[in-house]
Amino acid sequence: MAADLPVLDAEAFRAQAHRLVDWMADYLARVGNYPVQPSVTPGQIRAGLPAAPPAGPESFERIIADFQQLIVPGLTHWGHPGFFGYFPANTSPPSILAEMLTATIGAQCMSWNTSPAATELEQVMLEWLRQMLALPEGFSGVIQDTASTATLVALITARDAAVARLGGRAGGSLDRLTVYTSSEANSSVPKGARLAGFQPDHIRLIDTDRHAALSVPALAAALDADKAAGLVPACVVATVGTTGSTAIDPVPAIAALCQREGMWLHVDAAFAGSAAILPEMRWILAGAELADSLVFNPHKWLLVNFDCSAYFVRDRAALLRSFAASAEILKTSVDAAVVNYRDWGIQLGRRFRALKLWFVIRSYGVAGLQALLREHLRLAKLFASWVDAHDGFELIGDAPLATVCFRCLGPGNLDERNRGLLARLNAGGKLFLTGTSLKGRYVLRLALGHLTTTEQDVLRAWQLIVEAAGEAGG
Ligand code: PLP
Repeated sequence: MAADLPVLDAEAFRAQAHRLVDWMADYLARVGNYPVQPSVTPGQIRAGLPAAPPAGPESFERIIADFQQLIVPGLTHWGHPGFFGYFPANTSPPSILAEMLTATIGAQCMSWNTSPAATELEQVMLEWLRQMLALPEGFSGVIQDTASTATLVALITARDAAVARLGGRAGGSLDRLTVYTSSEANSSVPKGARLAGFQPDHIRLIDTDRHAALSVPALAAALDADKAAGLVPACVVATVGTTGSTAIDPVPAIAALCQREGMWLHVDAAFAGSAAILPEMRWILAGAELADSLVFNPHKWLLVNFDCSAYFVRDRAALLRSFAASAEILKTSVDAAVVNYRDWGIQLGRRFRALKLWFVIRSYGVAGLQALLREHLRLAKLFASWVDAHDGFELIGDAPLATVCFRCLGPGNLDERNRGLLARLNAGGKLFLTGTSLKGRYVLRLALGHLTTTEQDVLRAWQLIVEAAGEAGG
C-alpha cells in the first residue's frame, strides 16, 4: 500500500466480506420484517451523523455497526413484499453478485482499450437484448445509466440531425426547432428537451386520448400549426408504457408522421419494454422498428439492479456525430477497429454494467425471465379483477401491463379521499403505494414487478387497501 494505511488487508477484507455477505443473504430473506418505509422526519438521519469527517481511521466493525444502527432504520425497502410504489426497481442474487465483482475489478470502461472484455461483453449483451425484444437487426445498442440520460442523448442527436438538415449553424436553426411528446410522458422528456437546448416554449405536450395515450390527431394539428408559424418539427418522443398508467402511445401512426416530416422518433419504453420479451406482448413495440432510437430499463423489470438502461439507435453514425470525444490521451492504435463506448453518450468514464446483465440472463435464461413477467402480468390482472368487482372501488384505465390504477369511491371529494387513503396506507409500514394524477383525477397505483412478489403478497396488499378504505367511513 502506498501509504501505511491500516485498512483491511487481504485477510481482513475476506473476513469482513464474508460477514457482509451473510448480512446481505439475511436481508434478502427477511426484508419483509422491516417497515416498508421508515417513520423518520426530515433531517433525523443527518442529525445522527457526525457533521465533520473523521480525522483518523475508524474500525470497519464500527462502520458496519453504524450502517446497521443509523442507516438501515432510515431506508425505504424497495424489495419489501409490500412495496408496490413508483415502478419496480429490481435486484436479484445474480445481479448483486455481478455488482460485487464489478466493484472489485473497478474497471473503467470508457474505451475498448481500457477494458476490452467489458466493451465486447456490452456489445454481446445489447445484441442479446435486441433479439429478446425482437428489435430490427440494424439497431446498435449501448448501456446508458438511466432512461433520462438515454432520452437526453436521443434529443441531442435529433437536434443535431435537424440542424444539419437545415444546413445551418446551431444558433439560428435551433431557435426554430420543436419537440413533441404527450402530456403523460415522463418528466425526464421535457426536462431532456430543455437540456438539449430546445426553446422551452417549443416543447409541445400533446393531449392524450381516453386511454391516456398520445392523440395522433392532436399531434398532427400541432405539427401543422408549427409549420405554418415557420417552425421546424425535429423530434417526437413516444412512450410505450407511461409512468402514470402504462398507457401505450400509437407508435405506428406516430412513426408515419415522423417519416412524413423527417423527424427523429425516440421511443421511451423505460418500464414496459421488458414485457416485449414475451411473444404475446410484442405488440407493445409495434412501430418501434420504424423508430430512430429506443430505450428500456432492465433495471426496472428485468432483475438487473439499478442502474442499467439499454439504448438502441438505428443510425449509429448520427449518434457518433453528436457524441464522439477526441483527445490525445484517449487515442489508441485500434480505434478504427473497435467500439469505444465513450463516443456513444454523455459520460467519458463508464461503469462495467454489462456483467450484471450477463449474470442475470444466464442465471434465469430467457424462459425463466419470461415466466416471471408472465406471472407479474397475471397478478396484475388478478388485482384488477378484485378492484373491478368491489363496489367501493373503481378501476381506472386498461392496466395493459403490471401497473394497476384505481381509486376508492365514497361521499365527498374523491381526490382528497384517495390522498387520505394513500397517506394512511403508507404510514402503516406494511404497504407502499404511489398516487398520481390521471386525466384530472387523483388515482392510486399498484406497480408489480419484483422478483419475489407472490399472489399472497398481492392479496395482502388488497386486504390492507380495503381495510384502510373502510376506516375512512366507506
Ligand atoms: N420514462 C418512463 C416511461 C418512466 O416510467 C421512467 C421512470 O419511471 C423514466 C423514463 C425515467 O427512468 P430513469 O429513472 O431510468 O431515468
